[in-house]
Amino acid sequence: MMTIGPAELAAMIEAVAQRVSIEREALNRLDAALGDGDHGTSISAAFTAAIEAIAALDQPSASDIWLAAAKALMNRMGGASGAIFGSFFLKGVAVIRGKDRLNKRDMDAVLTAGLQGVQTRGKAQVGDKTMVDALAPAVAAFARTDDFTAGWRCAAEAAGDGADSTRELIARRGRAKYLGERGSGHIDPGAMTIAILFAAIDDWWTGKA
Ligand code: ADP
Ligand code: MG
Repeated sequence: MMTIGPAELAAMIEAVAQRVSIEREALNRLDAALGDGDHGTSISAAFTAAIEAIAALDQPSASDIWLAAAKALMNRMGGASGAIFGSFFLKGVAVIRGKDRLNKRDMDAVLTAGLQGVQTRGKAQVGDKTMVDALAPAVAAFARTDDFTAGWRCAAEAAGDGADSTRELIARRGRAKYLGERGSGHIDPGAMTIAILFAAIDDWWTGKA
């Protein structure tokens, strides 16, 4: 498949929702070590809300799918992190709008805009022990590839490595920063969610391509 349309974008969100739901308790445990222990519950509720909202759409366009995900993350997750995760999808919406289907270069732009949205909203840089540590390398790895198959594979690998890299870091953003050095030794839950997201999309793509 050379392009991705509304049905594929919906299937991607569905794959992510399923995987995040399976990992809910593990994500809660990561957040219990660094924050307030709710990350798995809130991200999984938000993605479940996203698939429900998408299912209720009548002949959605590609941007309608991404907008539904953005709204679900912002409304169901709530708080600062809901706005941060939501802005990943929201900034992609503007890039998708007007396109029926996305080719690989379009998807590069969607992911890049999403990363910029996250960083504008949350002000985190790579090394601050947040989801940006997984997202930034994943987006860069995706953009370096020529096709979706290599792109999702490399993005998933880079996101996993990025999530692992947060273990030894000391948080400079989010609740974890109040722990200081005591947070070292624990993987950031949001970074793990990004690793799960790209792994789920890669697995979905591979099963389908
Ligand atoms: P909360 O901290 O409000 O309980 P969650 O537990 O759902 O929200 O999400 C926590 C995750 O949000 C962190 O693991 C981190 O990856 C991400 N996060 C927090 N602050 C920022 C930020 N400023 N920029 C990017 N990501 C952030
Ligand atoms: Mg939390």
